[in-house]
Amino acid sequence: MPATTADVIVIGGGVAGLAAATALAGRGARVTVVEARPHLGGRAGTFVDPATGETVDNGQHILMGCYRETFAFLRRIGAMSRVRVQPSLAVPSIDSAGIRSVLTCPPLPAPWHLLGGVIEWDALGWKDRLSVLRLGAPVKTEQRRLRGATGRMACSPEETVENWLVRNGQTPRLREMLWDPLALAALNQPPREAAAPTFVRVLAEMFGADPQAASIAFPNVPLDEMYAAPARDYIEARAGEVWTGALARVIVEGGRAVGVRARGGRDIRARAIVSTVPWFGLRRLFDEVPPPVQRIVSDAARMASYPIVTVNLWFDRGVLGTPFLGLPGRTMQWAFDCGAITNSRLSHTSLVSSGAAAVVGMSNDAVVNLALGELRDALPLARAAAVRKASVVRERRATFSLAPGQPVRPTAGTPLAGFYLAGDWTDTGLPGTIESAAMSGHRAAEAMQ
Ligand SMILES: Cc1cc2nc3c(=O)[nH]c(=O)nc-3n(C[C@H](O)[C@H](O)[C@H](O)COP(=O)(O)OP(=O)(O)OC[C@H]3O[C@@H](n4cnc5c(N)ncnc54)[C@H](O)[C@@H]3O)c2cc1C
Repeated sequence: MPATTADVIVIGGGVAGLAAATALAGRGARVTVVEARPHLGGRAGTFVDPATGETVDNGQHILMGCYRETFAFLRRIGAMSRVRVQPSLAVPSIDSAGIRSVLTCPPLPAPWHLLGGVIEWDALGWKDRLSVLRLGAPVKTEQRRLRGATGRMACSPEETVENWLVRNGQTPRLREMLWDPLALAALNQPPREAAAPTFVRVLAEMFGADPQAASIAFPNVPLDEMYAAPARDYIEARAGEVWTGALARVIVEGGRAVGVRARGGRDIRARAIVSTVPWFGLRRLFDEVPPPVQRIVSDAARMASYPIVTVNLWFDRGVLGTPFLGLPGRTMQWAFDCGAITNSRLSHTSLVSSGAAAVVGMSNDAVVNLALGELRDALPLARAAAVRKASVVRERRATFSLAPGQPVRPTAGTPLAGFYLAGDWTDTGLPGTIESAAMSGHRAAEAMQ
């Protein structure tokens, strides 16, 4: 079969790949996206669960008001209306003793909105509330570092999140109610294991000049409708192509990446190739790893992964009474009313366990019982409700580890001519999130200008 050509080939049709491909297509490049799976979306995708026949996301995803690159991507593809951003941060939760409270940040300039919210939060004693003031200075240092105003870091790369919080005077109760759930959600790794710098970066982004940066944003449609389908339309409307079910291998000739061989032996040639495959998929892109990228490929293979487990429960009635609920101190740390989020009539509740190393190996029945037990313990409404169906989604390699001593994350440009890297795990300074993926895709597009 004769080879076809494109200006740029993007390998992988998740957030990073589609952000890169749409940025390039928007600048007039003819782009071909090559995705191994039958559908787009990668780790932020939607599928039909064979056990229940229900269409579900690959785990509930939330965005934050500080996701600037993600929102730029959504605006580009005309999909900004598919997320709903809270006007200011409001987090309802039920603590391990069953006490319900809401952290509500008033619409004040930063950092007064967070201080105002914590000072008013009746889940905390006065000592806990005042301890938040001690984080002001290190978070400001990180914000100055991000602006290039100082080279000083607010923490050491060897220090864990837990050590950093304790060293900065955060009380056990404030950590249990606020920082530990936030760190687990943002980093997908327990605070005693994850290194502090990425967490401090997240705080600096969330509690920056714009008070809405700390708000939570919810997709109000399934993830494939939120970004994957509109991104595909955008690329195809600009003379690009999207191949699915096409496992890619990079063709290297004369020390340069010159194209991609997809399943079925279909070749495509281009002046630049962007890989957005995850850290654990990089080695398989090459028959023989070219010397210039051997170090990057072996570092990627050494990166450790962390799991996320999601339990979907369909009740005979609504149980949460709120779009989402924090369950600090429990194995399933967050519950989402997917019916309320997407405005559908389903009483579909999704419970998420991040950093789920202890749960991922349990049987489906055991995980469902654990989730149901924790929800019923927290919520009297759930005790009377009957479960119609249930499913478990395990993502064993949901995100890469942020533990001290992990391999260096690679930049967009590589020493192999014509070969660029993107993906949430590349060097964005952010944890494995949609925002990191979108940022990496945009950086790869810029790197080849
Ligand atoms: C359960 C779960 C919950 C999460 N919750 C959140 C959240 O609430 N908020 C948030 O911001 N982030 C969340 N994340 C993280 C977020 O989903 C990821 O950071 C993001 O989707 C990564 O996008 P990516 O494009 O870098 O990688 P991926 O989504 O992994 O995309 C890479 C793509 O490359 C394809 N591929 C691999 N090898 C090849 C090959 N050889 N040829 C062709 N294609 C190939 C894969 O099939 C895949 O589609 C969550 C992740 C999971 C798993």
